[in-house]
Amino acid sequence: MLSKKIVDLLNAQVNAEFYSAYLYLDMANYYKDEGLDGYFNWYKIQAQEERDHALLFMDYLQQNGESVVLEAIKKPDKEFKAFIDPLKAGAEHERLVTGLIHDIYAVAYEEKDFRTMQFLDWFVKEQAEEEDTADDNVKKFELFGSDSKGLYSLDAEMAARTYSTPSLTL
Ligand code: MG
Repeated sequence: MLSKKIVDLLNAQVNAEFYSAYLYLDMANYYKDEGLDGYFNWYKIQAQEERDHALLFMDYLQQNGESVVLEAIKKPDKEFKAFIDPLKAGAEHERLVTGLIHDIYAVAYEEKDFRTMQFLDWFVKEQAEEEDTADDNVKKFELFGSDSKGLYSLDAEMAARTYSTPSLTL
């Protein structure tokens, strides 16, 4: 049985993951408007991944007999003035999400809630990957994004990303 504190934190994380999906969709739309269809593709897929994360937190709550409470999702309010802005905002956002996951983990650890710790292990690893990928996106843009040929190649690379469902099964 999960504690009330853990249930509340997991419900809040459902919302945080849907917000992440919203934020990445907003970034995808920015790139669409700017004509960078590869970046649009990459961020749209990133949004799909975040929705999947939200569903995993829902599944976990329900598997433990808990009700899911869906709250309003905050409007994405980041302003993008240059192509690199969403990349930097994405890296910053992933660090924030890592903090949220670690905070839940810390409570589960304190409560000796081994089940939740094991569930969260996948997300701890996933966040390390997300941060690494987000930093790579910034680095690559800084290296190659300043001229049109480089940008064209980067956009083509981002276009190649395909969607796959998360590897975590409950
Ligand atoms: Mg996520």
